Amino acid sequence: MNLIDRDRSFVWHPFTQQKNMIAPIAVAKAKGSLLFDENNNSYIDAISSWWVNIHGHANEYIAQKIYEQALTLEHIIFAGFTHEPAVTLAERLLKILPGSFSKIFYSDDGSTSTEVAIKMAIQYWWNQSLVNSEQLTVSRNKILAFTNAYHGDTFGAMSVSDRSVFTLAFHDVLMEVIFIDTPDEANINPIKEEIAQHADSIAAFIYEPLVQGAGGMKMYNATLLDELLHFIKEKNIICIADEVMTGFGRTGKMFASEHLQTKPDIVCLSKGLTGGTMALGVTACTENIYNAFVNDDALKTFFHGHSFTANPLSCAAANASLDLFEKNNVFENIHHIEQKNIALAQQLRQLNGIKNVRVLGTILAFEIEQGDDVYLNSISQTIIQKALDKNVYLRPLGNTVYIMPPYCITDEELDKVYAVLLECI
Ligand SMILES: *Cc1c(COP(=O)(O)O)cnc(C)c1O
Repeated sequence: MNLIDRDRSFVWHPFTQQKNMIAPIAVAKAKGSLLFDENNNSYIDAISSWWVNIHGHANEYIAQKIYEQALTLEHIIFAGFTHEPAVTLAERLLKILPGSFSKIFYSDDGSTSTEVAIKMAIQYWWNQSLVNSEQLTVSRNKILAFTNAYHGDTFGAMSVSDRSVFTLAFHDVLMEVIFIDTPDEANINPIKEEIAQHADSIAAFIYEPLVQGAGGMKMYNATLLDELLHFIKEKNIICIADEVMTGFGRTGKMFASEHLQTKPDIVCLSKGLTGGTMALGVTACTENIYNAFVNDDALKTFFHGHSFTANPLSCAAANASLDLFEKNNVFENIHHIEQKNIALAQQLRQLNGIKNVRVLGTILAFEIEQGDDVYLNSISQTIIQKALDKNVYLRPLGNTVYIMPPYCITDEELDKVYAVLLECI
């Protein structure tokens, strides 16, 4: 059997209806922005392999660091043990994170990083309310989140994500969440009133700063988000910035929260954290949150951890990715891509058949005016196929077409992506 037939026989793919599934492309290798299939056809990875890859594929520097780490210490339980790559990474992240964070908690991926944040926030309030092991006072346990949000696929992360086709089968078993719309001039005051009504029961507010990724690359106003965050913080609600997608340069700054005055109490990171090479999640918190767990009472312990918490190979990859930010002028590339995106956007706005052309950092997005603005809009399949035929990999979210390339993409490659985009529409 060839690889595709073996895949058909034995493998189940994510976010994929297996019936009548288009044959997957068997990628034999990748380099920089390019993916190569078994016949050595190349495709430009215009979405950074589901938004994770920032320095390009098969980066030699990161590969070398992972290799050296694998020969030294591949993995160790992280309760009762520690290691250099995890401590170094924590120190380095705490120096660059937007806000005053004091501790790094490791997990496995984006979903676990938000799951940890939600549990941390709810237990923060529970710990406050715990008088002794028999007595509890009222605690805060509701989560506030944005409509159209996406925070991951595990149960807690799914609960705080908007109700959609992704979550439909599980509505009866998800946590209760208070959803508010992203702020605009017209709705911000009613939103504040709604929050004020429930404030005493809300443990935390989770948000994707400036751009809602899986919800359709929806970009929203930074000034109004700032105003809302300021209001929410005044109500002592813990602010959780989910920077899983926006972290590490995507929005033109290292973290999207740098565009805002009001800083979060908790930050979630993954995707670009290891340069897109290894799975790793990070949840950073403030000293105040951490202190609520430091106690003689064992019940106030944060009982959470994964087998691969702080995996040394992943931590080594993340340290290597940060090295690349320091050694190479990565932000020059990011700003260059943003300038080119802005120029393309101006061109796109002249065209019929598309709407809402928008740019933030290395992300460019717009909607095709055909069918409804929904994830299941089948135009995505048509565009994926058309672009692949022209050696570019795109993966629209329904009728939302976007690009989010690795920062090492060359001008020639980016121009090719643009040309294919224009041809497709
Ligand atoms: C992708 C994503 C997640 C989930 O991360 P996984 O690594 O896929 O579990 C969470 N939050 C945001 C904002 C994301 O974009």
